[in-house]
Amino acid sequence: MNLKDQMNQGAKEYGAEGGGQFQFSKSGKYSLRILCQPIAIATHFFGQGNPSHVCVGKEKGCPFHTSDHKKPSVKFITYVIDRQDEDKVKIAELPWAVISEVADFQVEPEYAFEEYPIPYDILVTVDKAASPADIYKTMAARSNSEVPAEKIAELEERMKEKTPEKYVEQRKSKQVEKMELEKQYDGDAQQQEAPDYPEGPEGEPTI
Ligand SMILES: [Zn+2]
Repeated sequence: MNLKDQMNQGAKEYGAEGGGQFQFSKSGKYSLRILCQPIAIATHFFGQGNPSHVCVGKEKGCPFHTSDHKKPSVKFITYVIDRQDEDKVKIAELPWAVISEVADFQVEPEYAFEEYPIPYDILVTVDKAASPADIYKTMAARSNSEVPAEKIAELEERMKEKTPEKYVEQRKSKQVEKMELEKQYDGDAQQQEAPDYPEGPEGEPTI
């Protein structure tokens, strides 16, 4: 399955059709290497200052798929080499817009790739002040370059600890736990608010 199909499948699974929220920290130019298969994670946002919710999927009881809620935004979890920070291997949450460009590269003969790590860096220009569709501009480096063996070893270490799949699963199960807690809390609050019913004479059933 190529990345585009995978994205479409991710979108279907979460009831999202792309677009979405972005999470690069600042405007500027970034250069990174995608090291492994990006895995979709969907989040519901409720405006600034409100906690967002990881989407656990409509079928799994995510409560935010009613008509008055927005569709979740889909991002992708993967490992990257961060060229801005001493080539460190890091887990990354990449916006849909960036991965969508990479998916286009994948089917372009000049930039086609089959396996991970992708054979070239990607260059992302982030402009936080631009309109939502123009915040991210993604290019491919002009030439391929080798990922050093030590970086592959570092990636393997990190993957042993936590694959992107596992990271996404953990985020989802944390959300499920949170939902359970909230349910319990709501239950308690309702009990406290229940009106006091007048009591009948002790020992006698009220008819
Ligand atoms: Zn959801």
